[in-house]
Amino acid sequence: MSISSIVYNNQYEWCNVRDNLYKIINNSLIRCIIDDTHEYSQMGDVGFTDKQRTYLMDIIENELFKITFNEEWSTNISFNIIYGIQGFFQGFIKNNKWKYIYNCLKPEDIVDILFDNIKWQLDDDLHVPCLLEDVPKYRCSECNQVVDYLINDKCENC
Ligand SMILES: [Zn+2]
Repeated sequence: MSISSIVYNNQYEWCNVRDNLYKIINNSLIRCIIDDTHEYSQMGDVGFTDKQRTYLMDIIENELFKITFNEEWSTNISFNIIYGIQGFFQGFIKNNKWKYIYNCLKPEDIVDILFDNIKWQLDDDLHVPCLLEDVPKYRCSECNQVVDYLINDKCENC
């Protein structure tokens, strides 16, 4: 069974949807790390705060649902992405290196680092496997069949 029930007409359509997803995630990181100065000040002690974690997990879950209509998959993937980020912070915290790193970084740096972490996990176009790899399905412009990939808007049989 496929992850998503949404079918695209071409790669371009899918890339627009994906870029929009990335833009929303980046804006959400800005909102909870740069704009929320109280939460940012807490990050020096705890890495990701509970408020940031639940806020971001909800956003990612909602956005993944919008591009798949698959509730179970969206819930699992958003949980795993955020869980991975918590682990990333915990590695530094447990080794007493986080405070040092936190003091070297600007909030903008943390946003960029976390955005690239999330984008790398989802799909950065540079490696496989990745989480969004099997999400887009396409409709062949010739035979209307739904397939995993198109070549010049057509399936491999047309
Ligand atoms: Zn075809």
